[in-house]
Amino acid sequence: MNGTRMLADLDELATYGVDPGGGLSRLGFTAEEDSARRFLREAAGRAGLGSTVDQAGNLFLHPGKALPDDPVVLMGSHVDTVRRGGRFDGAYGVVAALEVLRTLTEHDLPTRHAPVVVAFANEEGARFPCPFWGSLAVTGQLDAAASTVDRAGHSIREPLARAGGDLDAIGDAVWPPGAVGAYLELHIEQGPVLESRGVPIGVVTGIVGRAIVEFDVRGRQNHAGTTPMDQRRDALVAAAKLVLRIEALSAERNLCAVSTVGELGVEPGQANVVPGRARLTAEIRDLDAARLEVAEAVLREEAARIARETGVGIECVTTMRSAPVRTAPPLRAAIEAAAADLALPAMAMPSGAGHDAQLIAAVAPVGMIFVPSRGGISHAPEEYTAPTHLVAGANVLLHAALRA
Ligand SMILES: [Zn+2]
Repeated sequence: MNGTRMLADLDELATYGVDPGGGLSRLGFTAEEDSARRFLREAAGRAGLGSTVDQAGNLFLHPGKALPDDPVVLMGSHVDTVRRGGRFDGAYGVVAALEVLRTLTEHDLPTRHAPVVVAFANEEGARFPCPFWGSLAVTGQLDAAASTVDRAGHSIREPLARAGGDLDAIGDAVWPPGAVGAYLELHIEQGPVLESRGVPIGVVTGIVGRAIVEFDVRGRQNHAGTTPMDQRRDALVAAAKLVLRIEALSAERNLCAVSTVGELGVEPGQANVVPGRARLTAEIRDLDAARLEVAEAVLREEAARIARETGVGIECVTTMRSAPVRTAPPLRAAIEAAAADLALPAMAMPSGAGHDAQLIAAVAPVGMIFVPSRGGISHAPEEYTAPTHLVAGANVLLHAALRA
């Protein structure tokens, strides 16, 4: 594998979508992303490889002129970014896969299935708010009608067509059963675990599921000066108790992996008024569906208890739920063996972030490899992974593809 060539590709890719404010804003289905994809197709062409775009705008790079009919070993990720994101999230997995494909073809190395590279369309959903657009489309899970307009009201039709897709024929992007024999996604960790343990390779055991519960706390708005403390029904005080119970769910009680209150609103929001209403969200994640279910049930019990104790009303609605996904044991073993071949320390770990692999898992065995993120920072201009780790991860991808 030519690490220098891969790093040069990554540098080149980082020139598309440079944001004057810092970082990369290479949103899915924009001119910036189009240029990045053009660069990838040209790089593939220079290596004697072909490229294909499906109806959903997913870009495939492959040996020969057309995508093979037989099952493939698919490797890749995405090249779109969030606003002012980093240069490694997604892009690294695609350029590494391209380097692996070039290496396999140049040296005529045998893989069980024909190797193909993918850059999935609109993984982040930063412009058109449908994250995982491309991987949802190929697995037949995309509700295109519900997600075709950006925040400014522009249809996805034209941008999708410019990328090589076709909104009217998007159903044709669905893969036939068995089309993908294995999917391997190499990605930066986007968290601090590998760096803090000093381990260069993460073997992903699965991608956590999550639930978002919205709470509407109703107390009684009243005068902050004349209402005695024992006669208040303060919505914010009740909400504050709930915030701490939500934190304790994971931090103290270990009922789920992480639990977060990311939104909290108070009404009317004045210094001299006892708050009458508070709204907040709880987001919980875990790799185990049963644990997630229990944590959600406990959360609702806690809310009911706080409502009784404080005399407020608390309504809760679960607005989002996604199931955890496990990576395929044979691919996990292939990645572990690949790391061992290369004498690279590796550790098993879950992914707390979502990835295309979690959608692809519905139709094909998936495996994921992580490399360290400096300071655990991602979705930010400061995102960074050392070149030695980038090359090591790509080598593991190559060796895993040979074993997949
Ligand atoms: Zn990503």
